[in-house]
Parts: sequence; structure tokens; C-alpha cells
Amino acid sequence: MDFNDVTAADVRRLGQICPERVSTGESVLDQHAQDESGHPPVRPEVVVWPTAAAEVCEVVGLAAERRIPVTAWGAGSSLEGNPIPVRNGIVVDFSQMDRLVELRPESFQADVEPGLSYKDLNARLRHEGLFFPPDPGAAATLGGMIANNASGVRTVRYRATKDNVLGLQVVLADGSLIHTGTCAHKSSSGYDLTRLLVGSEGTLGLVVGATLKLSALPAEASAAVVSFGTIQQVAAAVFQIMRGGLAPAAMELLDQATMGVVVPDAGLDLAVRPTAFLEFHSGSAAAVDESVAVAREICEAEGAVAFCSGLGAEARNRIWEARYAAYEALRREHPGWRPLILDTAVPLGAYTELVAFAAERMARTDLPGYLFGHAGDGNLHIVCFTPPGDDRAWQQIQDANADLVRRAIDLHGTATGEHGVGLGKRRFMDHEHGSSLAWMRRIKQAFDPLGILNPDKIL
Ligand SMILES: Cc1cc2nc3c(=O)[nH]c(=O)nc-3n(C[C@H](O)[C@H](O)[C@H](O)COP(=O)(O)OP(=O)(O)OC[C@H]3O[C@@H](n4cnc5c(N)ncnc54)[C@H](O)[C@@H]3O)c2cc1C
Repeated sequence: MDFNDVTAADVRRLGQICPERVSTGESVLDQHAQDESGHPPVRPEVVVWPTAAAEVCEVVGLAAERRIPVTAWGAGSSLEGNPIPVRNGIVVDFSQMDRLVELRPESFQADVEPGLSYKDLNARLRHEGLFFPPDPGAAATLGGMIANNASGVRTVRYRATKDNVLGLQVVLADGSLIHTGTCAHKSSSGYDLTRLLVGSEGTLGLVVGATLKLSALPAEASAAVVSFGTIQQVAAAVFQIMRGGLAPAAMELLDQATMGVVVPDAGLDLAVRPTAFLEFHSGSAAAVDESVAVAREICEAEGAVAFCSGLGAEARNRIWEARYAAYEALRREHPGWRPLILDTAVPLGAYTELVAFAAERMARTDLPGYLFGHAGDGNLHIVCFTPPGDDRAWQQIQDANADLVRRAIDLHGTATGEHGVGLGKRRFMDHEHGSSLAWMRRIKQAFDPLGILNPDKIL
């Protein structure tokens, strides 16, 4: 697709739409050139900060008229290059559309603007005894989470973002505004445009509002940290816990190398061994205690060498903070090195096989690699690092990444469990989707015939 450059006249028109909320400043363009992945930065030509849906309609309308690319920006915490404006153009930064518009606690619902961060939302919901469960850990916005269909440590129980969004307000590629979904918690009414738009990475429309489904904060919670001899034993225990019908609220796997960085970084008093972090939620203390007791039996049968439970709220928070901070801790361990974070998911029955394959494949590289993931969802991450400017090492990691992603797809899994396709996973779309990829292209064509919305992503 050919696009036009942003002219001085375009910048003036954007300034009329968003007065004093437009910038072509060097540092602003740099701040919107790169996400948290290792993909090379590409600057936009101009950044705008709308404060209302009507402004977004006008900005996109101008982009359509002038055939200029438009890329939405949440917090830039993506890990696959998803918001990098690879064809330059306009970046629409949603940070000034961050209102909690309406809270309906009696219906477990909230209407939000896209620039609100899920952490700020949850801080406000706590007083109502409610929360929005998807939790990617980073300082992500709800718009970015919706666009990437983000999930997190509690997805094993509360599901992903797409399962917690009831409806959307979306600005389409011609600058018009549509509403999708309803406030009903179930519906059989027509095509499910909400779920089509969730996970579309800003390539089909810009989300300017969302109705979220909330959950009650659990009355009782209990966590356990379980050490094993091998990573395969952790994976096997995860499978058996799910098979036993225990419904954990979180179930994370961390290999020994990851624990070797996370434990000292967070100052935790834990063994540096292959580990499972478990959490259980319930309405009664007796119920969580019973779940923990059954999980202990299962873990011991699978070879656990230590099972530490009965952790209070403070200890639990420290463990989850350490888990959330794992990626940052690993990056600090390799300052200046280029990161690649692999993200695949497979059916639970194939998880042990994927973990074994990943451990064996990473051992064949001579580069640092760390395995961890939301194991209860069959989701596995591997973070790898290569020295700056070492193209041979980067190729080695790319090859290992490709082998692992293809293996996950062959095990009836996916190229990306939660980080989205962005730039990094495009090359696997054909392998994963086969003939349905052509239908995705038709959907993109129908929504965005000029191809101006976040071009060169996903497809
Ligand atoms: C340390 C760390 C840990 C992470 N852990 C997890 C994890 O556990 N699970 C997980 O899922 N992710 C994780 N992530 C990735 C990231 O946080 C998520 O993908 C998150 O959803 C991105 O949100 P954001 O606000 O930063 O969006 P951005 O990165 O700014 O944008 C993401 C995508 O959404 C589009 N977009 C943004 N706003 C809108 C909008 N209003 N309308 C339409 N499109 C829009 C962008 O164009 C882009 O394609 C992690 C990231 C880091 C740095």
C-alpha cells in the first residue's frame, strides 16, 4: 500500500481537532517509536492526544481523506512490536482518554475510556469489592489490552480480556463511530463484532470506549510455592492439578534459571529450583485449605521436593510482584542485550511435551534462555538475550523461536497465547491459520479498504 506523508497543513488541521495536543517534537516521536520488544524503532511523523471520541473520529477521518497511516498507542508495553508505527504517519495516543465513565456495581460492569490503566481501574474497584481480572502485569491500558486480547496470571480462572468485555465503541477507518455488544452477560444476537475487534491490534478500528465485565474479589485466597527437581515435573503437576478439577486462580511455572534471577532480585526466601506458584480463591477458608491440601498431594506424587503454603496476603503479594517483574529483572541481568520473548500456548494435554521440547531446544543454543509462563492456560514464554550487534546469535535465537512456535502450532496450539501477532508472529500466520487467513484478509479489507489502520501488522 502507498501512503502519503504528513504535511505541515495536516499538522495544522490536527491542531484544530486537538488544540495544543499535537506534537512533532523529536523526543515525543522517539517515545512513540518503540514498544518493550526488541523490534527496531520506527518514528511516527506526528502524535495526537484526543480527549473525546468525536476528536478520534475527526483524526481518523482526516487520515482516510489524506491516506495517512494511523496507529493507536496505549502505554507502549507490547512485546511483539504491535504499536510500532512501521509506516510512520499519525500516532493516536489515548493517555488523555482515561476516565472511568460509569460504574454499575450491582451489574458487575464498568464503562471505561481506553487510556485508563487496568491497575488504576482495579485500585478504584477495590472499594466496591470488585476487580477486572485480566492482569498483564505491565502498566498496560485497557485499550491496549483489548487490542492485544491480553491475559495474565489469573486467566486460568477468570479467562482472557475477550471474555471480560461486553461491548465496545469503535472508530472505524472512515472516521465513523459504531457500538458493538450490549450490557447483557450473554447474547446470541448476530455476528459477535466485539470478539472480532478484541485482539485486532488496532488494525480494524480504534477503541474509544468499552463496557467491561467485572468479578467479585475473592473472600478467601491462599497460595503455595512448590519446588521440583525438573521443569518437566512442574508441567506434569500443573496438568494433574487441572485434571483433578481444582480450578486454581493462578498457576505459574518458572524454570531454575528464571528463579535464579527472580529470587535474588525480589529478595525472596525461596529455593532456586524449577517452581510452580499456585493460588486458590473461594468464598470460604475451608474450601481454599482443602484445594491446597489436594494440590499438595498431587505435587508430591509428581516429585515435588518442597511445598510451602499458608502464605499470608503480604507474602503472596511479594511473590506475585516478583513474578510480574520477571521480565524486567531478566533484562537487568543482561544490560544492553537484545531481548526476544517467545509466547506460545498449547492444549493442556500437550504442555508437558512443549516444555520438554523447549528445554531441549534452548539447550542447543549457547545463549541465555529463561522459561516461565501461565502454565494453567498451557501458555509458555521463553525470554532469550543476544549480545548487541551479534547478528549470528540473533539468527540462532530466531531459529529456535521458529522451531518452538511451529512445534506449538503442530501440537494444535497457537503462535501467540497473549502478546498478539504484531510484527514478530506474522510469519507463522499461514502455518497456524491455513485457508482461514484469506478470510482474515477479507475482513481487514472490509473494515479498512485503504489499509491505513496500523499497517503491516498481523497479516
Ligand atoms: C514486563 C511485561 C510483562 C508483560 N506481561 C504480559 C502478560 O502477562 N500478559 C499479556 O497479555 N501481556 C503482557 N505484556 C504485554 C503488554 O503489557 C500487553 O500486550 C498490553 O495489552 C499492552 O497494552 P498497552 O496499553 O501497553 O498497549 P500498546 O502496547 O500501546 O498497544 C498494543 C496494541 O494495541 C493497539 N491499541 C492501543 N490502544 C488502542 C485503542 N484504544 N484502540 C485500538 N487499538 C489500540 C496498538 O496499536 C497496538 O497494536 C507484558 C509486557 C511487559 C513489558
